[in-house]
Amino acid sequence: MSAIDALPPLREVIRSHHLQARKSMGQNFLLDLNLTAKIARQAGDLTACDVLEIGPGPGGLTRGLLAEGARHVLAIEKDARCLPALAEVSAAYPDRLTVLEGDALEIDPLASLTPPIRVAANLPYNVGTELLVRWLTPQVWPPFWQSLTLMFQREVAERIVAQPGSKAYGRLAILAQWRADAQIVMQLPPEAFTPPPKVSSSVVHLTALPCPRYPADPAILSRVVAMAFNQRRKMLRAALKGLAPDVEDRLRAAGLKPTDRAEQISVEGFCALAREIAAS
Ligand code: SAM
Repeated sequence: MSAIDALPPLREVIRSHHLQARKSMGQNFLLDLNLTAKIARQAGDLTACDVLEIGPGPGGLTRGLLAEGARHVLAIEKDARCLPALAEVSAAYPDRLTVLEGDALEIDPLASLTPPIRVAANLPYNVGTELLVRWLTPQVWPPFWQSLTLMFQREVAERIVAQPGSKAYGRLAILAQWRADAQIVMQLPPEAFTPPPKVSSSVVHLTALPCPRYPADPAILSRVVAMAFNQRRKMLRAALKGLAPDVEDRLRAAGLKPTDRAEQISVEGFCALAREIAAS
């Protein structure tokens, strides 16, 4: 019998540890171990990797990651009620699971991880986007992670993989696609979770590129993109007015039309503009 079979079903774990889901903690649990194993497989070959998991909850995805052979899992969980359940998972996989209690937005996990590192999580929706932006905007690239395999509300997942010309295209798409390959790899209906959330969810898999797709200074690119999408309905010459005194010339020098709008500009176009601004 494999270690995963020796552990009780998740419904029983929830019952015996009194883990009724709390909305304030963004708790929508995955209780189908076939599903959590499938998500863990989307993270790639884990056998030589440490995996960072945020929000293990009762441990469904954690068990999937360990059963798929993760070398070591570091799980950060804010809800102390979950710790005894996670201790049982740890006992079933000796020396392969470390659980830190606390807020993932406050804890620096790097001291407890050995590269290569992959991140996999059914993220609490209230902190998911903030964590993703942090992981995509470190001071140095490549980042600490090789890949991110993350559950989001479908609408957020669509913003991550969006292409120019679509309504969903914006800052998140540019941040993600500038330095990573991003793909939606699974779609999940609300009923896949307990309790079911109001919206559908998607798993996004991002692989870090060894270096950014196009050269640009990260701080300047970030400023240009934020300004452009702050007033996404305006033409770039108006939206970016405060960026440089000769912004129309800079736009033309970057190969862009001053009358274009932000959502028409590719990642390559924004990077060209960031370089022009840096040079001016
Ligand atoms: N991974 C579990 C699963 O798939 O069933 C639980 C997913 S549930 C959507 C999100 C989990 O994140 C909950 O266990 C919640 O307690 C935890 N959580 C919420 N906010 C957190 C934070 N700031 N830091 C760490 N964990 C957090």
